[in-house]
Amino acid sequence: MGKVLIIGAGGVGTVVANKVAQNSRIFTDIMLASRTKSKCDAIAEDVKRRTGVTIRTAQVDADNVPELTALFNMFKPELVINVALPYQDLTIMDACLACGVNYLDTANYEPKDEAKFEYKWQWAYQERFREAGLTAILGCGFDPGVTSIFTAYAAKHHFDEIHYLDIVDCNAGDHGKAFATNFNPEINIREVTQKGKYWENGQWVETEPHEIHKPLTYPNIGPKESYLIYHEELESLVKNFPTLKRARFWMTFGQEYLTHLRVIQNIGMARIDEVEYNGQKIVPIQFLKAVLPDPGELGENYTGETSIGCRIRGIKDGKERTYYIYNNCSHQAAYEETGAQGVSYTTGVPATIGAMMFMQGIWKKPGVFNVEEFDPDPFMEQLNKQGLPWHELFDVDLEL
Ligand code: NDP
Repeated sequence: MGKVLIIGAGGVGTVVANKVAQNSRIFTDIMLASRTKSKCDAIAEDVKRRTGVTIRTAQVDADNVPELTALFNMFKPELVINVALPYQDLTIMDACLACGVNYLDTANYEPKDEAKFEYKWQWAYQERFREAGLTAILGCGFDPGVTSIFTAYAAKHHFDEIHYLDIVDCNAGDHGKAFATNFNPEINIREVTQKGKYWENGQWVETEPHEIHKPLTYPNIGPKESYLIYHEELESLVKNFPTLKRARFWMTFGQEYLTHLRVIQNIGMARIDEVEYNGQKIVPIQFLKAVLPDPGELGENYTGETSIGCRIRGIKDGKERTYYIYNNCSHQAAYEETGAQGVSYTTGVPATIGAMMFMQGIWKKPGVFNVEEFDPDPFMEQLNKQGLPWHELFDVDLEL
């Protein structure tokens, strides 16, 4: 049906390459490009072995618009799946506009020198994409992504009004390392060390990092201490679902992880500004990334599962209702299928489904959209088919 270009050859890129190849009736011509071509070649070789599908590879610096446009003009993709880093979102969107290519990503743009997690830069492209007749799909991983689609699905089918939303993200996996992050360490540490923030009664309430926490019980896992953090989908969800009185995001962290994180921060290794070292400028968090385990290599011995979902309270037919929708994903099963662990899997599968939605003309309209602005139903159907089945609980104690 169409040509797709994947940019980024990390853990998520590995999963997207596998899943796109598994759906080669829709994605008839596939290219994987990244900064380091040898990583693309290794993934393509592995995908060929697993699926028999050939993926072309290329080298590209996605910070560089002329390099991107040269690649786009050569391959002529219909859609770019951006699973590089959030820093590259705007350059890739610029290149898409220059070449008439549609766009999908899994994380909002961030300037390298400020951890902001805001959509304002990408929402500013709305007019340009609309006028060009191109679609940009933002935040199509798991969170943001599936959590936003779960919310849209709940609002469409189970509520007249949703009032309270709690997104709950548990990783009960064990990778056997003293400290490692499950996706890009720089982005991950920036995200979890920032101040907490949630939406209540029409305004944002800020907290100290990890100030609010409580044990929450996750299906098939049990109780886990869960910490209120800010997460980017909250910004678009409160805009797109104005009936929300409160929206929060919770993530589980082990004590050992938090201790390491505190030390990393206290000794200055989480800094994102440049420091002078031996006559050279380095950014401490980038140096730290170089010495931490590669998230892409965690899969082999990773046991346990993730459980991510939405706990919602609202009104249906004049009565209060509670609802919990979630997916559990096994790290081991993800590794066996794609060679990557569960966190990469839960991001790469939704990105692939979003791309399918676009290629099939189901999620295709000119402009820049967050995923909850599209029809959730066909996406939800594919989650069950592509490896991320979901479950619903009605009228349960949400603990929140
Ligand atoms: P990795 O760090 O494993 O991979 C990132 C890839 O992007 C690497 O192959 C890297 O190349 C490449 N890259 C970095 N800079 C450039 C550049 N300038 N030009 C070309 N390629 C570049 O990250 P992950 O795979 O773990 O994550 C990918 C994305 O997914 C991130 O944006 C992350 O925030 C997002 N994510 C979203 C989630 C969600 O649920 N929505 C959850 C988890 C992740 P090289 O190998 O040379 O370094």
